[in-house]
Amino acid sequence: MMTLPQAFSSRGRLAPTPTGYLHLGHARTFWTAQERVRAVGGKLLLRVEDIDQARCRPEFTVAMLEDLRWFGLAWDEGPDRGGPFAPYTQSARRDQHLAVWRALLAGGWIYPSAHSRKDLEHAPRAPHAGEGEALFPAHWRPAPGTWTPPEQPDGSNWRFHVPDGERLEFVDGRCGPQAFEAGRDFGDFVVWRRDGVPAYELVVAADDHAMQVTEVVRGEDLLLSTARQLLIYRALGWTPPAWFHCPLMCDASGQRLAKRTAGLALRDLRAAGRTPAQLRAEWGAP
Ligand code: GLU
Repeated sequence: MMTLPQAFSSRGRLAPTPTGYLHLGHARTFWTAQERVRAVGGKLLLRVEDIDQARCRPEFTVAMLEDLRWFGLAWDEGPDRGGPFAPYTQSARRDQHLAVWRALLAGGWIYPSAHSRKDLEHAPRAPHAGEGEALFPAHWRPAPGTWTPPEQPDGSNWRFHVPDGERLEFVDGRCGPQAFEAGRDFGDFVVWRRDGVPAYELVVAADDHAMQVTEVVRGEDLLLSTARQLLIYRALGWTPPAWFHCPLMCDASGQRLAKRTAGLALRDLRAAGRTPAQLRAEWGAP
């Protein structure tokens, strides 16, 4: 009997956003993604998540690819190499994203919302949602039959109607069993913005699914987002990937690294004469 190794189907991804220079925390997460997919002989793709064009800059994309290569990351598919699921630049995938918006609309999963993020400022915060996110009040949903599905999403925020009270559960490859309650830990979330930009939760699920990613490796700040993305997968009848959320890296004072953290940007470390092998040795990577 011949069993095909998992190798033939495993696909991992690096999904950086070019809003600044990558730091050591990104490198550690991406290295983990690469190691995990290489260990099973799978393929690694690089996707540039530049959907928010107002915040992303082309020079950061160039720097990002350079820094990742310097660090020893090598992807099989990407904007620079092509591949069967091109384009690998998120801003060039609008048609695919629109198709997902249409499928969610057709299934009755999303609705146009007149309420802005600003309106949400005074709404209660969700226990797990961190600084930025308030819980969208359920009574702000439009009453059924008060709107007609349009051809295009333009001009409204579109939100996913979450199943209030339902526990969304998944097993994370590093963090173990996870559970988040819809309507308590997170509320109706934006899938398409009024300014015409599709939201992170929609595009990341759309692209991971389209690119046949089998394991998503990313920072643990996105655990709650995974619960939202699972709702999108389920709504569309897609099989979700496996999840592996990595610890976030902090600086000497315990502050989480950010793209603006000086000194720990990969290019600063490189300029200071540090080598990728030394840096990896410090965090105990092989
Ligand atoms: N592009 C996102 C970021 O840089 C990561 C998204 C993901 O890995 O799902 O924060």
